[in-house]
Amino acid sequence: MCEAVRAIKRQMPPPEPNALADRLTRLIETAGPIPLAQFMAEANAHYYATRDPLGAEGDFITAPEISQMFGELVGLWLADLWSRAGKPSTAHYVELGPGRGTLAEDALRAMRAARFEPPIHLVETSGTLRKSQAGRLPTARWHDDIDSLPETGPLLVVANEFFDALPIRQIQRTEKGWFELMIGRKEGSFVPLVSGGPFDELIPEPLADAPIGSIVETSPAVESAALALAGRISAQGGAALVIDYGYQGPAVGDTLQAIADHGFADVFADPGECDLTAHVDFSVLARIGRAAGLRVYRPVAQGEWLEALGIGARTMALTKAAPERRDELVAARKRLTDRSEMGSIFKVMALVSTDWPDPAAF
Ligand code: SAH
Repeated sequence: MCEAVRAIKRQMPPPEPNALADRLTRLIETAGPIPLAQFMAEANAHYYATRDPLGAEGDFITAPEISQMFGELVGLWLADLWSRAGKPSTAHYVELGPGRGTLAEDALRAMRAARFEPPIHLVETSGTLRKSQAGRLPTARWHDDIDSLPETGPLLVVANEFFDALPIRQIQRTEKGWFELMIGRKEGSFVPLVSGGPFDELIPEPLADAPIGSIVETSPAVESAALALAGRISAQGGAALVIDYGYQGPAVGDTLQAIADHGFADVFADPGECDLTAHVDFSVLARIGRAAGLRVYRPVAQGEWLEALGIGARTMALTKAAPERRDELVAARKRLTDRSEMGSIFKVMALVSTDWPDPAAF
């Protein structure tokens, strides 16, 4: 080997050891392939526990990190609903998967201006992100899941890019019926295998005859979170605002993606080192909400929703107060609302308690 090549080799860091990959490998070698949902749950728990993935330096950017206007308009939406519900003094602000706490900070500032200052409850499993949230929201209380939220008083719940991080199952049609995708090991790599099943009875009627190879996704984790949330809002009053990328099922399609460094990565290459995410089936949230007796407001495109709430006027007001920020504010509005950016792929849905008023902008 020539000296130059040796020098280059010496400078290259050795591949990082991945303790989670080692543990999953041992598990698969001893017990056989594991369900995709288990792989995704363990990978994301490790991923979010070990870093702050948001922002330019991280792996991806979310709407509240693009502009304060996003959280402010969410806050005004909540304050307006609360106000028309008779300003109940016992209402709580709840956020699922609050990231850095930016959305909550912006929303609560806008709500304070409308004289609505509810106690803050954050459902967050990552210790690292809880620390950033505590820096912005020192009076918040943290919860591991929805079950420990207060049992009295209306809940005003926000979930931006929360449901897409929850684990999914994938069921694929083969010649022999519908089988679950499991994760096994082959030649030193994680590989998807069509092995558990058959699960033909899980497939919604309109999809039963989908072509061989089609994938149907389900998420027990999304369903159980939605069930817990809808039950509480139905019993205690309030509403949930869900913002995410998604579709109206039932539908076939493989929406599982790995995101790292603002681009797509290999889903199976490095578990726990990239964000695993799937599109949210809004029809599941709607069905669970209706079954709990809530009113469901259609998923509307994020761009339309923000325009209806007055992001144009908000951009102008902020520009007037700080003319030097004009370009930044105009660009942020475009990024959040334009159809070619986040405006139409992201959808907004509301689930509202029957004795609460109609929400704005649906
Ligand atoms: N809502 C934020 C962050 C989105 S990233 C924003 O818009 O910027 C997903 C968030 O969900 C992170 O805070 C992550 O730690 C949290 N999260 C992921 N899985 C979770 C789970 N099972 N329970 C609670 N929080 C979870």
